Amino acid sequence: MMTGPDLKSMEYPELKELVLGLGDKKFRADQVFDWLHNKLADDFDSMTNVPKSLREALKGDSYISTARVYGMQESKYDGTRKYLFRLCDDNLIESVFMRYEHGNSVCVSTQVGCRMGCKFCASTIDGLVRDLTAGEMLSQVYSIIRDTGERVSNVVMMGSGEPLENFDNTVKFIKLLSDERGLNISRRNITVSTCGIVPGIRRLADENLNVTLALSLHAYSDEKRREIMPVANKYPLNEVIDACRYFFDRTGRRVTFEYSLIGGVNDSGADAAGLAALIGGLNCHVNLIPVNPVKERNYVGSAKQAVLAFKNKLEKNHINVTIRREMGRDIDGACGQLRRRVLAEGRESNERIGTNAQDIL
Ligand code: SAH
Repeated sequence: MMTGPDLKSMEYPELKELVLGLGDKKFRADQVFDWLHNKLADDFDSMTNVPKSLREALKGDSYISTARVYGMQESKYDGTRKYLFRLCDDNLIESVFMRYEHGNSVCVSTQVGCRMGCKFCASTIDGLVRDLTAGEMLSQVYSIIRDTGERVSNVVMMGSGEPLENFDNTVKFIKLLSDERGLNISRRNITVSTCGIVPGIRRLADENLNVTLALSLHAYSDEKRREIMPVANKYPLNEVIDACRYFFDRTGRRVTFEYSLIGGVNDSGADAAGLAALIGGLNCHVNLIPVNPVKERNYVGSAKQAVLAFKNKLEKNHINVTIRREMGRDIDGACGQLRRRVLAEGRESNERIGTNAQDIL
């Protein structure tokens, strides 16, 4: 059961202290760390080269967080997989596995639900349930590696939740994911995505982790942004852009701006011109993505023509821009909807939850 701290969330020095404190040698800590972060063990009993006495002592003092596969949808077109995971306390979260030419990528959730309230996003509809631990973020990646049998070289924190509202666990997750004793994923290939928590962006810059910052912009003016992103009431765009500039100055890492195009809302020529004026001169890159329809909202993705026109306008203003490749066309319900669907089913028929939710996926 969940007693004591989560072993998977511990960085190596902390784990070493725990093992030494139990009267064991340092190399035993190395073994346990290796089981957790290399061999991707989810329980104490699989650590076969660790003496039973130590395993029992650890069991009494700690637990190992897990994310068990609870459902999965795979795209027929490109093999993109959307996972639904069940956590130790039965909360459900989503993660996505994508295959790119430059390697496999996993999109992880950082919270159960989200409290940011962006109008176009399904993950926030029921608010925030709780933060994820570093171990639970790692477990999403580890479970996907085990399930697919494939390597993962990129991790983006673009699932549900706001990573900079769960700052300490996010930093721990990045450190463990890039630990050379573990998966050793390059920090350059780890992206922290935020809706614009200004103090968090500055703190992240000061951590100097060498990760990529993605900023969810979606509008060029405060007025427009406030309509679709409540966080804009707290942090105006000039402060957000200043923080992005600070991030680049501190880290030398080019910032990515995420811009989800919503038909008739933020996809006009004037929007593109406004965006170019806002971020012109910054060392940055813009990622355009037609918004995924969320059935509880009445937003629609921009038409192909509008997307291309928007891109052209930015390019004319010398802004680096890509249209995010569409992944998993056939499983493209927006992020967060798989979980909502299963929770809704559970409310109608309680015995489905925890037993045969897979049937409906
Ligand atoms: N809270 C963080 C990370 C999670 S959202 C953030 O806001 O960045 C990850 C990205 O998906 C963000 O850029 C977000 O704006 C975008 N997004 C959310 N709902 C979307 C939808 N329905 N269609 C397209 N992009 C969406």
